[in-house]
Amino acid sequence: MKRVFCICCFLLLLLTGACCAADEPLPTARELFEQNPAPDVPMACDPRMDPLLVLVNKEQGLPSAYVPELTDLNLFHKPGVHTQQMRPEAAEALARLFAAAEADGVKLGVVSGYRSYGTQKAIHARKVAQRGRSAELTSAPAGKSEHQLGLAVDVSCASINYRLNAIFANTPEGQWVEAHCAEYGFIIRYRAEWQKITGYKVEPWHIRYVGPEHANLVMSLNVPYEIYMDYLKLCWDARAHLPIRKDA
Ligand SMILES: [Zn+2]
Repeated sequence: MKRVFCICCFLLLLLTGACCAADEPLPTARELFEQNPAPDVPMACDPRMDPLLVLVNKEQGLPSAYVPELTDLNLFHKPGVHTQQMRPEAAEALARLFAAAEADGVKLGVVSGYRSYGTQKAIHARKVAQRGRSAELTSAPAGKSEHQLGLAVDVSCASINYRLNAIFANTPEGQWVEAHCAEYGFIIRYRAEWQKITGYKVEPWHIRYVGPEHANLVMSLNVPYEIYMDYLKLCWDARAHLPIRKDA
């Protein structure tokens, strides 16, 4: 009996710990900047203008005519899904990620890559018709989807029938993606505890390409991309305003 009580206490402690961790406030961009004003990441231009880093969310959209350079993903796709496309940089990185996963005995499948403004508009209208306002937490309106950038991809696996569901995070494939995606330049974009900032529910299947250096930093800071981009802006501004040396 005493043992059962101890186990219950332990579980309760674990649960409370998990809840506290979720409630912990996120660092602000200013706090990140104060901790490290010059991170070791490439910044050839204002990061907000870098086509591989551009932030797309509910506030910041893309014009309807925006179409990136695209290439076919010659990778395993969800059965029945036609060949998807991404920007060449992201497609190459995803091919390396899939190969590394396969070498570890993990088989992933592409579900959805680039989506045009028109496709996103149709998908969003269908989701809203099916689910009403709650669809806003799971589906982006046209022009507000990272898929239109050609830098985001949804991946899943056979054991869950290639569904895009939060349980992907509990599969060996989902855990592999979480542990290794940054090495190939991808970040997990939507986590449950970031919903207030991102505007979306958890999506462990949706990964966004930003390049390995930025991906490693985003994942190690464990902050939403919105905060990361504000942080990068502060770093960029500080760099641009460094006094010019007279003897240079
Ligand atoms: Zn997605």
